[in-house]
Amino acid sequence: MSESFLQSANFIQSAYLVAAVMFILGLRNLSSPKTAVRGNIQAAIGMFIAIVATLLDANVVSYGVIIGGIVVGSALGALLALRIEMTAMPQMVALLNGFGGAASALVASAELLSQPETGAVHDGIVPFAIVASVLIGSVTMTGSAVAFAKLQELVGSGALTYPGQQFVNGALGIALLVLGGVVMMDTGNFGAFYGVIGLSLLLGVLLVIPIGGADMPVVISLLNSYSGLAACATGFVLDNSTLVISGSLVGASGLILTQIMCVAMNRSLGNVLFGAFGAAAVSEGSTGEAGAQDQGNVVAYTPQDAAVIFSNAQSVIVVPGYGMAVAQAQHAVRDLADTLVEKGISVKFAIHPVAGRMPGHMNVLLAEADVPYERLVEMDEINPEFPETDVAIVIGANDVVNPSAREEKSSPIYGMPILNVDSAEHVFVIKRSMNPGFAGIQNPLFFKDNTMMIFGDAKKVVVSLAEAVRNY
Ligand code: NDP
Repeated sequence: MSESFLQSANFIQSAYLVAAVMFILGLRNLSSPKTAVRGNIQAAIGMFIAIVATLLDANVVSYGVIIGGIVVGSALGALLALRIEMTAMPQMVALLNGFGGAASALVASAELLSQPETGAVHDGIVPFAIVASVLIGSVTMTGSAVAFAKLQELVGSGALTYPGQQFVNGALGIALLVLGGVVMMDTGNFGAFYGVIGLSLLLGVLLVIPIGGADMPVVISLLNSYSGLAACATGFVLDNSTLVISGSLVGASGLILTQIMCVAMNRSLGNVLFGAFGAAAVSEGSTGEAGAQDQGNVVAYTPQDAAVIFSNAQSVIVVPGYGMAVAQAQHAVRDLADTLVEKGISVKFAIHPVAGRMPGHMNVLLAEADVPYERLVEMDEINPEFPETDVAIVIGANDVVNPSAREEKSSPIYGMPILNVDSAEHVFVIKRSMNPGFAGIQNPLFFKDNTMMIFGDAKKVVVSLAEAVRNY
């Protein structure tokens, strides 16, 4: 194969097509934990093919700059990935989305601003694509930076609202459309273009500050979708089909994920974006302790007490939540499940779609601990089984098992589908204190007659529980 063939448009476009097929196959396989590893590898191979094909392009001006970028970017990425705690994954994703948006906006800006030197004439869809890429990419960049700062608690995580907020955002949106229109009609109007950049960066900040920390994962998923749309627009700017396809895939899958999360919390996207749920949740949370006293007494049990109940049980459902992730208790939980199974007890895991802090959080942790996938049961399927179950054991979950969502119309989480653990014969709840969960509200489950609280760090309690069950 001659070098010119490798650099020909035909070869590069064919390579892009293969890469796109690999992305789609990868996404399909990622939809099930059983095939997820294969999906990841396929998508990575697709990306490798796309990168090599791009590097072969005769339009590449300087390999030195590209290699420098790859070395610095890979080193930073590897360092971040190695150092990041599992619990800080949402803010890491926020940061990566922000970088994705920034990259798209920078590439599109470079294309427009280099016009006087390159003499390139931008016509057809390109001016629109440039404005779209810069607008969406910049909003994604600053919006993600605010999301990161809130989750990392660099700034207060509550919703920041002020009078006339929607009006200000609306006015900013209209100004952006007008300026964007001016740039599309005259791509040499750099003043208007800088205006688009500035206002978009500002809009990103203003759109995310009124959203509370509790809703941040949904916002991150939406920003992920935006970063895909920005990449797609940049694909049109560069006439690069693989960027158009991969950007669309990210855009569409981010939107689908956002929708899944909203449904699992019984909230509309409008309510998440404009409802300032965090502000309400924070004030509810501050009454959490008072609520605890109002609702009756809570009795603390020990793992040894629990072992007695387990000795008479035939069926157990384990309900993991965010606290299991914090305590990194997944291996201990698997050991407890194995111990119970050895004693002839049937053990299943109930998975709520928004347990933890990101979609699939519990599936990932339990898969890491090699819990057989067949034991993991989705919420709709497991809920009818609770009334027939001897013991439900809640490990660091709170909101996803809060009966207020079913029973209390005034509750901020009213209508959110939950795991009906309270209908099991006995319920053990393992957590460190009476503190509320992410939504900041008290949980009446803890005060029910069939509930037994075991206070302590999830990992330590589960280890002692497994030992107590073995020795009983
Ligand atoms: P919650 O945040 O409701 O509760 C977690 C509980 O874990 C807390 O009550 C805490 O109590 C306990 N905990 C924390 N650390 C430990 C530890 N080391 N050992 C034992 N317990 C611990 O978690 P859920 O999983 O029930 O619910 C998830 C929440 O996040 C929902 O409100 C959901 O809407 C929200 N959310 C989730 C998203 C997702 O994609 N998964 C997206 C958006 C929102 P204590 O401090 O007393 O120990």
